[in-house]
Amino acid sequence: SGGVVDAKNLRVKLVLLGDSGVGKSCIVLRFVRGQFDPTSKVTIGASFLSQTIALQDSTTVKFEIWDTAGQERYAALAPLYYRGAAIAFIVYDITSPETFNKAQYWVKELQKHGSPDIVMALVGNKADLHEKREDGIEYAEKNGMFFIETSAKTADNINQLFEEIAKRLPRPPS
Ligand code: GDP
Ligand code: MG
Repeated sequence: SGGVVDAKNLRVKLVLLGDSGVGKSCIVLRFVRGQFDPTSKVTIGASFLSQTIALQDSTTVKFEIWDTAGQERYAALAPLYYRGAAIAFIVYDITSPETFNKAQYWVKELQKHGSPDIVMALVGNKADLHEKREDGIEYAEKNGMFFIETSAKTADNINQLFEEIAKRLPRPPS
């Protein structure tokens, strides 16, 4: 199913959902290129990037990352985007309650219409901004999701996000 090459080498489609401006593209660019561009105002072009990591058990996981070029504004297009995804990152901005509400909408949508074995992470981005924060841990636990706070700006927890979700992928029998 869904892009698995063999038990030791996984290839998976990963999508990011969440309000425009929460930092989805920046998370991807931080992870794939090790860069953060503070001048970028909205989504930076790239729509497809891939990156491979090795886990401690020597499994490799190739993430095929689908970033949106703002299609997140059009809910009707979402099913085309997340179809076949093994991993979904539901991203919100920890300083913005509206984006946390929207994240919950996306979780419900994927629970209803996503692939049944999709692995989801709830990602509270912009953790470098220490204002009043929306804490997603309780919501994530209730919904059986991995939870992490990240900063694409400082790189805090970006690699951990991808590593931890990779460990939670269902594995084909070896
Ligand atoms: P997207 O619409 O979800 O893809 O959001 P972008 O990745 O385009 O980021 C939107 C804005 O948030 C940009 O101005 C980024 O510079 C900023 N941004 C993204 N990640 C972070 C972060 O971790 N910390 C801070 N302080 N700003 C961020
Ligand atoms: Mg974007």
